Amino acid sequence: MKTILSMLLLSCALAGAQYDLLLKGGHVIDARNNINGVRDVAIAGGKIAAVSESIPASAAVKVVDVSGLYVTPGLMDMHVHVYAGTGQRGAYSGDLSVYPDGFTFRAGVTTVVDAGSSGHRNFPDFKDRVIDRSRTRVLAMLNIVGLGMGGGKIEQDASDMNAEATAEQAMKYKGLVVAIKTAHYAGPEWVAVDRTVEAANKSGLPVMVDFGSFRPERPFQELLLKRLRPGDIYTHMYLSMVPMLDDQQKVLPYLFEAKKRGIIFDAGHGAGSFLFRQAVPAIKQGLVPDSISTDLHVSSMNAGMKDMTNVMSKFLNMGLSLQDVVAKSTWAPSREIKREDLGHLTVGAVADVTVLRVLQGEFGFTDVNGARMKGNQKLQAEVTVKDGRVVYDLNALTREDWDKLGPRYTSQGNPRWDATIGGAVRSRK
Ligand SMILES: [Zn+2]
Repeated sequence: MKTILSMLLLSCALAGAQYDLLLKGGHVIDARNNINGVRDVAIAGGKIAAVSESIPASAAVKVVDVSGLYVTPGLMDMHVHVYAGTGQRGAYSGDLSVYPDGFTFRAGVTTVVDAGSSGHRNFPDFKDRVIDRSRTRVLAMLNIVGLGMGGGKIEQDASDMNAEATAEQAMKYKGLVVAIKTAHYAGPEWVAVDRTVEAANKSGLPVMVDFGSFRPERPFQELLLKRLRPGDIYTHMYLSMVPMLDDQQKVLPYLFEAKKRGIIFDAGHGAGSFLFRQAVPAIKQGLVPDSISTDLHVSSMNAGMKDMTNVMSKFLNMGLSLQDVVAKSTWAPSREIKREDLGHLTVGAVADVTVLRVLQGEFGFTDVNGARMKGNQKLQAEVTVKDGRVVYDLNALTREDWDKLGPRYTSQGNPRWDATIGGAVRSRK
């Protein structure tokens, strides 16, 4: 009688199991909650339901053994270009952008921030064309140029840098629009930076700057020490043009002064903005990025940048700890763009989770000038979970062996934890 009762209870428990997905035995790195150790992570209803040293397997519909791997908040890449599909040639608001879903989950990324590919004029088109149709969480910085990164003359047109209209559009889509961006400006005036700061003041958002041409009429030092406000972000920090090192290879003091002022430094690797000869000496002397980002677009992804885990791996091999690298790719960017609901594994938070493997071996990394840095560690995204569902699984860690599923297994997944195509289930007979 007792046995029958407990069997009944067990089957009831499985049918109505408390958790949808349980990641068991992984090493959790969660900067916001100061966790850096082995924990189980349980997910239910698309939210983090429990993080603890031991959660019973019987409490979950799906249990995945992730021992030996690292479990982190879903990675946030806060500098990408994903305004694809407009048909515009040679522009980041067009052919130079990529559709996010093809590049994010396979690199452990669950949230991207488009860094100003659109402006106040074409943001609604970007939203309709990409943001609303993507499984990746896509946030955006509005370009101070009304037409965004249309290339050529469009981005140099100061008459289309309308702070008022940009701020208005940003406030209309608050939460989705998370910053104001200026980029690629080549003129000698401060107009692009100043209008960007003006729009940011009006909308209560931070600024991100790609300084475009570095000109003596508007010194970079002045940008960091005077024009930008604490909390504003300079991206492309290891760009060749950034005055970084003196003749003795010492980091110039104004950069630390800017840090002290509260200026945020973002990696923004890209196809032209990351050199080992800047980054390696700077990092040794403590000038590290606040956030790690890719500047993903069609050129960078096939060159030295590749993807988020590759850029993170560079920093790992340049001496940052794994804990730091993860924090700078999760919780730090979330705070920079004031989306503190993301980037951590607090109970109740959205269940965006990444499982990473640290591969040991002989690896090579390329910078934007084609120089190599050798390294012995490389991050690999194993499983990506978005809103509580598995959206990517490199080595079938969440799957059942085919020869144990019976002769006629089907491809129906379990909607409680599985969002990928397939998800074989046992045959009825
Ligand atoms: Zn960019």
